[in-house]
Amino acid sequence: MNLETLVTEHPQIKDLINQQPIFWRNPDYAQKAELPFSKADIFDAVARLERFAPYLAKVFPETAATNGIIESPLISLNEMQKTWEQQNQQDLAGSLYLKADNALPISGSIKSRGGIYEVLKFAEKIAITHGNLAYMDDYSILASAEFRQLFSDYSVIVASTGNLALSVGIVAATFGFKTTVYMSHDARQWKKDKLRENGVTVKEFNTNFSSVMPKARAAAAADPNCHFVDDEGSNDLFLGYAVAAVRLQKQLKDQQIKVDQEHPVIVYLPAGVGGSPSGVTFGLKTILGPNVHAIFCEPTHVPSVTLGMMTQLNNRISVYDIGLDGLTAADGLAVGRPSRLAGKIMRTLLFGSVTFPDNDIYRYVAQLQDTQGITVEPSAAAGFTGIAPTIKNMPAFNSNHATHIVWATGGSMMPQSEREANYAKGKELMIAPLIHA
Ligand SMILES: *Cc1c(COP(=O)(O)O)cnc(C)c1O
Repeated sequence: MNLETLVTEHPQIKDLINQQPIFWRNPDYAQKAELPFSKADIFDAVARLERFAPYLAKVFPETAATNGIIESPLISLNEMQKTWEQQNQQDLAGSLYLKADNALPISGSIKSRGGIYEVLKFAEKIAITHGNLAYMDDYSILASAEFRQLFSDYSVIVASTGNLALSVGIVAATFGFKTTVYMSHDARQWKKDKLRENGVTVKEFNTNFSSVMPKARAAAAADPNCHFVDDEGSNDLFLGYAVAAVRLQKQLKDQQIKVDQEHPVIVYLPAGVGGSPSGVTFGLKTILGPNVHAIFCEPTHVPSVTLGMMTQLNNRISVYDIGLDGLTAADGLAVGRPSRLAGKIMRTLLFGSVTFPDNDIYRYVAQLQDTQGITVEPSAAAGFTGIAPTIKNMPAFNSNHATHIVWATGGSMMPQSEREANYAKGKELMIAPLIHA
């Protein structure tokens, strides 16, 4: 790969190198393409989550109120919308909503979708093959001493910047799997503490996520009874995320939000390795069709999915290859090399992407707190950075009939000290004007 040639072919790479916020419009959007998954795969995942619901309700009492279904609310952001308009000095026609995955049970982040789903699928396979579980059983029997004994013969390994380890770690250890998480230098201390409290072995590394991955992968490969949750390309993670679309369809209907040609829905998703936003986007396009449009949001220091998709090199290029440091306060997005799946599947499904300076997300963290009383972690506020550049480049989306959904991806498990520090930083930054593409 020759950088000069790449810049000539894709002039926006220059802005990426210079850490200038960009709006990238995907030239292949809405073209025809063969996809590796179908609607049936999504509904297979939906059914599996339903089989496990009695188990989850039993072992995670916080899910009992929803009968073991892990889901988050869709919240209207009327007040935040006014503040957003003042800050950005422009009108936002249409309505603003938050998909509050910050409040998802068990891990307090979007990883409660993919991460937990993958562990459930592994547990089901073991229990059916070696434990006499029947698909029609009440799966709460999996919490019994007998099944825990069976699961203790198996292990689960995952590498993570934080939240994937939380979701996979907590659930795998609850089943009784020997569970080890490999954490990159971004990982917050409280996430490691929480995992250790839950009986998870935490291996800490002083390097970035992309360098930790091969170590975790090798350790898993050395143990035939080990399941490796591969954030760089797992189908199960992907389909777990996609289930969100089936749930959102019903929430949109219940809140009388239309999705058709006159009523576009634009969804803003923070992207790290690209797995969660791609899984959600695949689900949305499959379930809701052509009038829902996804925008990925990435830090200017770590535009890994944007770079991979723009060049179509996908996981064969990393942000380090163009001289970026890959450092960001958005620990959930601190992944320099995109997943093997994301860019490939998103080639025709993603509308576009934006990049933002870290400071912006702190401001939105504080604004969301002030206007709606909702706390999110810095990564989870990234979606708000996508709105202004998107409507600037796509005036048709700034219509009274449009619905803008910011996907808040994490935060409800943050300790109070962390919340206060993020909020204070956001308040401090609020005075300066916003810079965006
Ligand atoms: C993991 C994560 C993301 C991004 O998901 P990827 O699958 O890495 O793209 C966004 N926000 C938060 C809070 C996360 O934990």
